[in-house]
Amino acid sequence: TPALRPLLAGNWKMNGTASALATLDAIAEGITRLPDVFDTLLCTPATLVHRAASAAKASRIQIGGQDCHTGQAGAHTGDVSADMLADCGAHFVIVGHSERRADHAETDGLVCRKAQAAIASGLTAIICIGETGGEKAEGKTLAVVERQLLKSVPDSATAQNVVIAYEPVWAIGTGLTPTVEDVASVHRFIRDHLAARFGAEGAGMRLLYGGSVKGANAHELMAIDHVDGALVGGASLKADDFLAIARAF
Ligand code: PEP
Repeated sequence: TPALRPLLAGNWKMNGTASALATLDAIAEGITRLPDVFDTLLCTPATLVHRAASAAKASRIQIGGQDCHTGQAGAHTGDVSADMLADCGAHFVIVGHSERRADHAETDGLVCRKAQAAIASGLTAIICIGETGGEKAEGKTLAVVERQLLKSVPDSATAQNVVIAYEPVWAIGTGLTPTVEDVASVHRFIRDHLAARFGAEGAGMRLLYGGSVKGANAHELMAIDHVDGALVGGASLKADDFLAIARAF
């Protein structure tokens, strides 16, 4: 099977005010100097999506949100819908990030409905899955990943409207990463699962690895079969750090 066009996605989390648009500009500028063989996405805070999308318009950078509601409008004070993100110029939205699963008790079923809302708005949903350190220690990694895939990925998923991000919770923001062998076996498992469920669409879905990706480890991680890109937290906040990863693509 031909390699999928990789996706380098940054997740700024709850970081960034207007001054962070300078970082976006620097990333966009750096990306123009690299071969056009991968897609680049920055998932900004919701408050920056509109300005970031405007600033990124003439660049290779696309903009995404970090979460959306299951509904498109209504009495949900403080929430942001997928329609609203799309209206602001977003093309992607992260759903089911482990921080939201932990901080807001998001369940697999809720994540699935958020992904459905994203798809209905024309966004690509980046659905995050991954085991905790405790689950890994108990040998449950593949069982957890399988459950999350079954319950968090909607039947309407296609290669265009869904990206899967495998992010071991214990590797996020810790500087720890799984071994190449562990990433390879989990990504193979995810690919087999998606291909069995969705056929050619599942074979074409991009699978990102996330968790302490940085310039120094990006090359070996991105060389692994069925790793079709990265979801990057901390190292997406500074242009130099993010561009060091981009050079591995
Ligand atoms: C993330 O939160 O999606 C992430 C991968 O964070 P970090 O790169 O900082 O580990």
